Amino acid sequence: MPDRWDCLIVGAGPGGLSAALYMARFLRRVLVLHDDTSRTLRISKTHNVPGFPDGVAGPDLIARMAGHAVRFGAQVREAEVVSASRVENMFEVRTREGERISAPTLILATGLFMNQISLPRDVHEAAMRAGVVRYCPICDGFEHSGDRIAVVGCDEQGAKEALFLRRYSSDITLIPRAFDELDARERRDLEQAGITTVEHALDHLELHDNTMLVYLREQEMPLVFDVVYPALGTRQRTQFAQSLGVVLNDQGAVDARSPYGTSVAGLYCIGDIVDGLDQISVAMGHGAIAATKAHNYLRAMESDGARA
Ligand SMILES: Cc1cc2nc3c(=O)[nH]c(=O)nc-3n(C[C@H](O)[C@H](O)[C@H](O)COP(=O)(O)OP(=O)(O)OC[C@H]3O[C@@H](n4cnc5c(N)ncnc54)[C@H](O)[C@@H]3O)c2cc1C
Repeated sequence: MPDRWDCLIVGAGPGGLSAALYMARFLRRVLVLHDDTSRTLRISKTHNVPGFPDGVAGPDLIARMAGHAVRFGAQVREAEVVSASRVENMFEVRTREGERISAPTLILATGLFMNQISLPRDVHEAAMRAGVVRYCPICDGFEHSGDRIAVVGCDEQGAKEALFLRRYSSDITLIPRAFDELDARERRDLEQAGITTVEHALDHLELHDNTMLVYLREQEMPLVFDVVYPALGTRQRTQFAQSLGVVLNDQGAVDARSPYGTSVAGLYCIGDIVDGLDQISVAMGHGAIAATKAHNYLRAMESDGARA
């Protein structure tokens, strides 16, 4: 284990592991810390990662990516990071166990939390594995061509997701989680697209034989769907970016240019915490950009040091 690191990366998802691979191949001493909660670990099988025409399971992809980065010299370690600070051109992260680790560059690839639909944890995970609960129309709408699809969340986001999914199926129903917050324009667009909007709010869900029974308030009989897309928003894990002084946008994300650098010299943010498209291929691209920028930042520091 080196006594000095060139770069710390928080996050071992597609973003952090791509950055680690590039850093290692730039002959940098790079350490990845993660708490084993990459969203990619929850994907049964993705079909839109280029190079995997038969699909790849999320955990397999992460294992391959970690192995690839380690093969070229990166170190990947499981540890929850509890704080990040900057003192005299060095970043210091502290782990739950009290360890303090520092480096002149820091790449944050901490991802996001999804606001999940209310179901007992084991039922929720079983429904996700079976593809009966889905959270990402861009990722897997294709797999539900012609299916009976429910979108939960009668607001701007729910309307957008329902309209997006309409390309794949003519049987789409939008269900209020609690209240209908659609404006006149959204209502008109949904109507024109032939999307059903139900009046009664969601009461509860029951997983049944690879379908979801959706019980509505004041309604006795459930509606039956092949898949439910909760459109309930996300919370980016931006606490370290914020504590280091990065300003978030009104969506709670860091600026789209952050893979290229932030207002804090030597700090880069990548993947799902960045404003934009939350996808594996995007996080990978961000990782390549941030690592190259961080490497060049270190090279500039080194040549300043040599000149001094
Ligand atoms: C069910 C599901 C299906 C999906 N399907 C697809 C798909 O088909 N195609 C696609 O492109 N995308 C898909 N996605 C989205 C994809 O998973 C994300 O876009 C991708 O994982 C983002 O990568 P990331 O590196 O930014 O973040 P993540 O992969 O979420 O990784 C975040 C990392 O940060 C670490 N971390 C965060 N906070 C801390 C801390 N305090 N201490 C230590 N470590 C920390 C976590 O442990 C984790 O390693 C899907 C997501 C889900 C949930």
